[in-house]
Formats: sequence, C-alpha cells, structure tokens
Amino acid sequence: MPKALYPGSFDPITYGHLDIIERAGKIFEDLIIGIVENPRKETLFTPTERKEITERALEAEEISVSKVITFSGLLVNCAEKYERESIVRGLRANSDFEYEFQMALTNRDLAPEIESVFLMTSGEYSFLSSSIVKEVKELGGDVGTFVPEIVEEKLAEKFN
Ligand code: ADP
Repeated sequence: MPKALYPGSFDPITYGHLDIIERAGKIFEDLIIGIVENPRKETLFTPTERKEITERALEAEEISVSKVITFSGLLVNCAEKYERESIVRGLRANSDFEYEFQMALTNRDLAPEIESVFLMTSGEYSFLSSSIVKEVKELGGDVGTFVPEIVEEKLAEKFN
C-alpha cells in the first residue's frame, strides 16, 4: 500500500478534514498530515499552533496518523522528502474542483511519479470549511457540530 501526504492549511482542523483523514487511513498504510506554512496566506493560527491543535484533535477523536508536520515550499518537494507516493486532497460541493484540478496537474508536471488522490467529502461536511467555522465563532455562534472541543477552545482563546 502506498504512503500518502495530506496537505492543507488546517486553520483550524474541522470534522470535514478529520473525516478525510480517517478514510484515507484505511486506504494508505502510512499517512502524514502536512500543515502548510505559507507566509502569503493569512491564517488565524500560526503553523505551530495549527500542528498542536491538529495533534490534539486527532487524539481526542482517536484517529491515528504517522505524524503531523509543518512544511514550506513546494508540496511535491515535501512529498518526495517523506517518500510519499500519493497526495491526498478532499473535494467538497463544486467549489474545490477547479483549484484542485489545476494544482494536481501542476504537481504531476513537477513530479510525475506522485499521484494525487481525491476523496469525496461526506454529505454532512460538504459545506464545512475552516473559514465558516472561524466566522461563526467570531460572531459568537456555537461550532460544536463542526469541530472537536479542543478546537473550539482554541478558537475561543483567539477571539476573546
Ligand atoms: P488549503 O488551503 O490547502 O485548501 P484547507 O485546510 O482548507 O487547506 O483544506 C485542505 C484539504 O482538505 C483540501 O483538499 C480541502 O478541499 C479539504 N477539505 C477541507 N474541508 C473539507 C470538508 N469539509 N470535506 C472534505 N474535504 C475538505
């Protein structure tokens, strides 16, 4: 079974991400979660915070992965460094497709030996995103159905 990297911002991790991780864990023998450090993209949490929150959410949900890392630079370089044959991404209701398609084709040009694999979101999470969670929490809403408790606590700390 191939080894995979699931990259993303995870700012913060949601049940949508966790669902993809759990399902990818059944397909791949070894799964690394890669948290992107992108100085051009503004995030609520720092890479170190996102790593810690992700690890704690995985622990709380009893989902095991090989490890959680942070990385900067080209995604394919990270995949090669950790000897990954596959990159896992999630696809939600229509909005993700164009971007993911473009990124997968670019990555294939850069590293033809690495295959991008897409897992379809579960219906209940098809409209769930980290941005929506942050928006709801900032406006004082309950995000308990979208993220584990630890994530909700960290969001509360940021917005207080
Ligand atoms: P990025 O900035 O790289 O898109 P995200 O953390 O927003 O980082 O997303 C990481 C990956 O997880 C992407 O492939 C995204 O489509 C997927 N994803 C995010 N939310 C969901 C969800 N609710 N259901 C399925 N996949 C999701």
